Formats: sequence, C-alpha cells, structure tokens
Amino acid sequence: MAHQEWTETAASMVVVLAISAGIVAAGEPMGGTATVGASIDRTASSRPHSANPAPSPWMSSRLCGAIRERLSTGFNLAVAQLERRIECRNLFTRLGSDGLEILSTSLYYPAGVRHESQTCLNADAFTVVGGAPTWLCRRFAQVSDRRAAVLVIHEALHHAGLDEWPHDPGGPSSQAINAMVQRACGL
Ligand SMILES: [Zn+2]
Repeated sequence: MAHQEWTETAASMVVVLAISAGIVAAGEPMGGTATVGASIDRTASSRPHSANPAPSPWMSSRLCGAIRERLSTGFNLAVAQLERRIECRNLFTRLGSDGLEILSTSLYYPAGVRHESQTCLNADAFTVVGGAPTWLCRRFAQVSDRRAAVLVIHEALHHAGLDEWPHDPGGPSSQAINAMVQRACGL
C-alpha cells in the first residue's frame, strides 16, 4: 500500500525521462535540478553470480492480463540472458549493481491515464532513474518476446541509475540503450 501511495505521488511529480520506445518524453523537461537518482553511488558490485532462485516480477494487481503475460515472458527471458551472459550482467556491474537483484526489486505498474495520453504515445514503458517502479504502457502488451526482454532490462538499467539523453545531455539515447542491451544480452 505504501508502494502504491509512493508511486502515485512519483507518477504525478515526475515528468518521465526514461522512455523506451526511443522518442523524447512528450512532457515538459524535468525542472533542471530535480534529477531523481542522480546521486546514486553504489559500489558493492563484484560479488559472484549467486545461485539464488530465479526472481519473478512483482506486478501490481492493476496490470491487465495481456501485459502481465508479456511482462512474465520478457522478464524470464531477461533473467535467462543475465544468467547466461557476462556482458549482459556487466551492464549492471558498471553501475555498481547486480542485474538479478535489480530485477527482483523492480515494481511493475500500469501507466496511468495521463501517461497513456502523453508519454505512452511514444514509449512502451518508463522508469524514473534510480527508482524501483516501472510503468508499463498498454502497448507493452503487443511487443515481441525479445522486445519485452529488452524493455525489462532497459528499464532495470534506469532503476540501477543509468540516465538517458536528453535528461542527461551527455547520456545515451533510448535507442542507444536498446542497442546496447540487444548486443550485450544477445537479444
Ligand atoms: Zn530509457
């Protein structure tokens, strides 16, 4: 419940900066200094890949069945590729994080009405940099297995602190992040 309150607040405060479909947020830029997650400085990164049970996605009960199904498929594929490929895990290691840990602490919510009519016109999902909640747009229900996995990892990288152009003028574009994920994770 606290989650819900917090995310509702976050959703209304934050102009999204983590777009997955490759187009800049439809909204106004976030007022300069309020960079969420800009101060992330985690250092514990190089613990060995553990044999914990594979994580499963935490989903809001408000997510519709079609999106839940896509998310489960994409999430499981993302986990499999993280387990298989060190290059994929390294995307997170470079940020001082562990990919499986980030995935297992991510929270998936449906995009609200306002975001569906704005951000989701050009995105499949979005995440505030450094935040655990990822909002899934209705169109996420239509993506392929691989695309769903790329999106899951892309959003998880934002959760782990990866910023994106234009919010971070020197950061990678959404497309560049997708390409990086596809290459590193074999997707
Ligand atoms: Zn993004």
